[in-house]
Parts: sequence; structure tokens; C-alpha cells
Amino acid sequence: MHDDGFHLSSEAFRAHGHALIDWIASYLDDIEQHPVRATVEPGWVREQLPAHPPEHGEDFGRMLADVERIVMPGLTHWQHPSFFAYFPSNTSGPSILGELLSAGLGVQGMLWATSPACTELETHMLDWMLDLLGLPDRFRSTGAGGGVLQDSASSATLCALLAARERVADRPADRGAVDPYRRCAVYASEHAHSSVAKAVRIAGLDPSLLRLIPSDDDNAMRPDAFADAVTRDQQAGLVPTMVVATIGTTSSTAIDPVPAIAEVAVPAGCWLHVDAALAGTAAVCPELRWIHDGVDRADSYCFNPHKWMFTNFDCDAFYVADRHALLRALSVTPEYLRNPASDSGEVIDYRDWQVPLGRRFRALKLWFVIRHYGEEGLRHHVREHLRLAAGFAARVADHPDFELVAPVPLNLVCFRHLAGDAFNAALLDRLNDSGSVYLTHTRLDGRYTLRCSIGQTRTTQRHVDAAWEHITRAAAAMDATGERG
Ligand code: PLP
Repeated sequence: MHDDGFHLSSEAFRAHGHALIDWIASYLDDIEQHPVRATVEPGWVREQLPAHPPEHGEDFGRMLADVERIVMPGLTHWQHPSFFAYFPSNTSGPSILGELLSAGLGVQGMLWATSPACTELETHMLDWMLDLLGLPDRFRSTGAGGGVLQDSASSATLCALLAARERVADRPADRGAVDPYRRCAVYASEHAHSSVAKAVRIAGLDPSLLRLIPSDDDNAMRPDAFADAVTRDQQAGLVPTMVVATIGTTSSTAIDPVPAIAEVAVPAGCWLHVDAALAGTAAVCPELRWIHDGVDRADSYCFNPHKWMFTNFDCDAFYVADRHALLRALSVTPEYLRNPASDSGEVIDYRDWQVPLGRRFRALKLWFVIRHYGEEGLRHHVREHLRLAAGFAARVADHPDFELVAPVPLNLVCFRHLAGDAFNAALLDRLNDSGSVYLTHTRLDGRYTLRCSIGQTRTTQRHVDAAWEHITRAAAAMDATGERG
């Protein structure tokens, strides 16, 4: 034991900290040495770990050695430039440093009073991002609305639904009703993210009143079908409570027609939440701001800098046009949290804008990212990903054995081999087992579809070329061995 008791001395902290930064830098530099997808069998990682915690403290060097020995083989390398699976969850040097600083400061920003900088920097970043993406002023903190950082788009959807539910309960006709929530109907396209169904359950609404609206040939919500569903529900005495319009669906980056959805939702008093989890980032490019058409009529909006904006998980930007319903839904003030600043009504207490009480200093990493790249840098890298995706899509379209399965408005290419579902599933396994690339799949129009999602920080033309080469070579090899169905 030393002067600090059992704590890490500050000299040791410095030494290990420098070593850890070196380790992370080398990891990212050398990441292509690893297979993209984890190769371990279920249970392997736990088998390597001692059954019980240590009685005596251990040396940090041994911990880092165990990261190499135990953790590394059990990783899927999301920052690998040949990671084309799901949607990206990219990061960058400034973001990692911002995250580290947040841990180093260790503040908890539940109230303005518990760390004014944590709240005010966050408010400021959310206002900055309105400028960055050309989003409407109704979300600016200086008006009735405002933004907050959530951990995820799922939480944003849940908070939007809790606010929408609150708005229903507050209608003159429903005020004091025994259970106004029982009649709440919620709408989203059949391609909306599963977090909508989850939010309905968590909010205690009736899951049978979640209407999954059919989509058109491009997988976008059909506004006429949405209008019909609203009319039917109103006639049945139900309350159209919230519609989720998706800008960039998870399966295919389809873009729901927000203006036409707003035309139905707004007169019906139905809360319009826009989920642009991945796609929102594209609007750093002025030529892509059309994706946000209609958002100026939305009650709430979210996108994830933790997907495509070089900001590591977790970081979702959630905006409301009028914060009052959200605060009514989520604000509970026990005596032990009361303080003069909150009582004055002049400050934001973000604990009232989210489900948990406590909150991290997430705005630091965003501040670092935005200042490091500037609008110019973010636009450059997003345009590069879009260019790479367009090039990949062109190759698919030109190949006699492959076809595009959906339009490519952004950085996701949905495609398939013409030989059918079983062939495509086997092709995907073969590619991912090789460790050279990682892609995932979905189903569109009932057909097994491969997804190539291009948005990793270090992905370049070379990686996309190599991916296409792997795909075509693997398919040809399968063809040669008669695996075509
Ligand atoms: N919404 C959409 C459109 C998504 O694509 C995703 C994830 O891919 C989510 C919501 C959920 O995101 P999160 O992990 O931030 O909850």
C-alpha cells in the first residue's frame, strides 16, 4: 500500500494513461490485421476469466495484457474499414479524447446546478447541430423547443412517445379520464425500426394499436394508407397519438414522405416524430438537405452522431418543437434535488428530458468532433462515403449475376445475387467467415437481401474495391461448385 491507500497513484495513472493512448492509436493503425467479425465460440471469453474477483489488487500492465489475450479475440472490429454491416457506429480521435475527458472530469449533469458547463455546452452543441444540418429553428433552445443528448435513438423515440401520450392525457376531453392511454394509437411504416414497438410496450400502450403502415415500391411509408388508418381509428373512438416517420430506414435507408405524413398528422393532433438515426448526418451536405423536407412540421426529431458523424457511441441528438409536454411527462422533483437555480426556472435541468436521472458529459466529444473537423471536414468525409456507395451500386447494377434491390439515396447498398435466397445466405456466411469483410442482411419484398453499409471512418476506395472483389469471387466459386439453387 502507498500514500494514496489502494488508489492508483497519479504517476502510475499518467504512465498507464500514456501507454493506453499509445495502445489505442496502434490498435486503430493496425486494425486491418484482425478478422472483421469475432471468431470465438459462445462462452469462450468467460472461460478465460477467473471464476471469482481477485482478493489482491493487480498490476495495470497485466490488465492490458489480458485485453490482448481475452478481449481482442472476442471483438468484432466495428472500426475496421471493411466493416460494412448493420449501420456504422464510427468514431474518431477527437471523439475518443472527448470521451476520455468526460470520464476524467467525472461530472454528473443531472441538473444545471450539478455542473453548469455540462448543461450549457450540451444546449449549445444541439443548437450548433441545427446549423450544421440546416434543421428548423423551431428546435432551437431559444424558443419553446430545444434539444438534448440521449443515449440512443430508441430512447429518443420513447421520450417522444411519452410526451405524445402526455399530450393526449392533457386534452380537455381526456383530462381526469381513468385510463386515457388505453385509446392511444401509434403509427409507423412496416420498415420502421423495432424501437417503435418497444417504446409502445414500455409506455404501457396497447401493442395491438400499433399500426404498421404499408410501404410503396421504394419501401417508404404510403401516406394514403396512413391517412386511412387515422380515419378508421378516429371513427372507432381511438386517439391518433404519434406517428414515426423514418428518414433512412434500417433495412434500406428508405425515406418516408414527411411532408405528406405531416399533412395528415398535424390536423389530427397526432405527434409527428421523425427518426433520422443514420441519415440525419447526410444533411451536413447542403445538396442533401432535401431529406429533411417536412421536418419543419415535426413535433420531434432525432439523429445519431454515434452512427455516421465520427462520434463514438453513445450519442443521439433529440429535439422537440415544444418542450412542455416532454417536461410534464418526465419531471418529478423530490426535495433532495431542489435548488435555487431550478426553482428560478431560468436553467435547463436535462434530467427532465430523459428517462434516467443521472447523465454523462456527452457534449464534450461532440464539441471536439465538430471543432476538429469543422463543417468542411464533416462534409468531405460524408461525401466520400456517398461516392463510395454510388460506385459500389454501379458495379452491382453492371454485373450480370447481381441486382440492386432498393434505391440508394445515401450510403447503403441493398443487393442480391440472382440465384435466390439460399445462395445469398450462403454467400453472406462465406464472406463473413473469411474475416476479410463483414456485411449483414435484411429481407425486402420477402427476399433475402445483402446490405453493404459504407460509413466507417477509415473506409477508402481500396476497401470497397476489395469487398466487391471478395463478393464476386466468392459467388463465382460457389457457382463453380454447383451451389446455385
Ligand atoms: N432508428 C433507426 C432508423 C435505426 O436504424 C436504428 C439503428 O440502427 C435505431 C433507430 C436504433 O438506434 P439506437 O441504437 O441509437 O437506439
